[in-house]
Amino acid sequence: MAKLYFHYSTMNAGKSTLLLQASYNYRERGMATLLLTAALDDRAGTGRIASRIGIADAALTFDPTTDLLALVTERGAGCACIFLDEAQFLTRDQVWQLARVADDLNIPVMCYGLRVDFRGELFPGSSALLALADDLREVRTICHCGRKATMVIRRDDSGRAITEGAQVQVGGNETYVSLCRRHWRAAVGA
Ligand SMILES: [Zn+2]
Repeated sequence: MAKLYFHYSTMNAGKSTLLLQASYNYRERGMATLLLTAALDDRAGTGRIASRIGIADAALTFDPTTDLLALVTERGAGCACIFLDEAQFLTRDQVWQLARVADDLNIPVMCYGLRVDFRGELFPGSSALLALADDLREVRTICHCGRKATMVIRRDDSGRAITEGAQVQVGGNETYVSLCRRHWRAAVGA
């Protein structure tokens, strides 16, 4: 039976790198894969999954209205595995659609995404995946102190931690820093 996987972490842990490497491993063995990522702007259709260490690949994009079961049925026929980046942006319905890709189409689905936002709240897609995925895998990265980083702060231009606002800021100048919970609390004054 195919499974629904959720690889979760905080920012800058290298999730996209792992996704691209895993997809490459399939293709190297002659098996097709379908790559999906969130459309964070108005450009629909073709997107791109890029990793910080310089590798990238083309991907189809999804937004909250995309029927992922229909998309995979149409575009993923014959694929050995579906890879989906930015899984935190999935809706709960879309996570169920991916569960049906695994259960009904018998194609494994590998989702990669952030667990919590900069306020320490679960993303909707991550909440649904933590509840519904067959297999949960943590992608680890470390805080500046050497502890495992599980939290993220968003910094404004002056370097201060932002504690309010939209869950996702697109096109801003903010930067994200991954921290352990203790240093996250110190940064946000909690
Ligand atoms: Zn720390």
